[in-house]
Amino acid sequence: MKTTAIVLAAGQGKRMGSHVAKQYLLLKGRPVLYYSLKCFEESAIDQIILVTAKGQETYCKKEIVDRYGFGKVTKIVEGGKERYHSVAKGLDAAGPDCDYVFIHDGARPFVTPEMIEDGLEEVKKHDACVFGMPIKDTIKISDEDGFAEATPKRELVWQIQTPQIFSYPIIKEAYDRLLHKEEELQNQGISITDDAMVAELLLKKKVKLVRGSYENIKLTTPEDLEIAETFLKSINNNKNSNKNLQKNVDTKNQLC
Ligand code: C5P
Repeated sequence: MKTTAIVLAAGQGKRMGSHVAKQYLLLKGRPVLYYSLKCFEESAIDQIILVTAKGQETYCKKEIVDRYGFGKVTKIVEGGKERYHSVAKGLDAAGPDCDYVFIHDGARPFVTPEMIEDGLEEVKKHDACVFGMPIKDTIKISDEDGFAEATPKRELVWQIQTPQIFSYPIIKEAYDRLLHKEEELQNQGISITDDAMVAELLLKKKVKLVRGSYENIKLTTPEDLEIAETFLKSINNNKNSNKNLQKNVDTKNQLC
């Protein structure tokens, strides 16, 4: 069984308002992209394909891949205009001998070893699964004039994250179809914002939702960087206090 992670880092991150793309901003002295690459590097994943913007391949190779010794990065490929173009290039590079593929935003540094393990288990059962979390706030669907039109049942609304994990032949077929129908979908006003959507739309594939974590944020706007710094500082503390909390619960359960 061969598994590949496609880590996407070809976006410009305009909403961050920085001249440096968000995946290269420093988080505790290391580029944002470092964190997810490290997690995949230390996992059971066989190879990593890094997708970068045109002209950034050498920088990524020297300053990230070689510098931190990410030996599982087998290819650094140039991305495309939209995220889905970058994914399509990553899928081409992954090659036909790949069985399962994890597609991950390089701007999402808090993917964990547990998520990678769970993702592999779930994709073996369902062929397509994505991480996400049930939303906490009420969601409103707005009409064209900015008035609330509908309120979906909160328990059924999820905020979707990456990694998004698929059986390779399935997602490759879905993306091949997407590239053929790109113009038609654009004319229908459909914009492709994640990989699950490609499988749902083009293959009518059911995609399993798997609980990720509320910390698995994507860095998009400047305040996300501050939130990420805080998460990074508190991750170890939280792990310890969660362990203590669990111990307390276990002890109480034993006493009951
Ligand atoms: O722009 P957005 O926040 O949705 O980007 C999500 C991820 O996709 C980021 O890691 C970004 O670098 C990547 N991306 C890409 N190619 C693009 C656009 C975004 O690899 N053309």
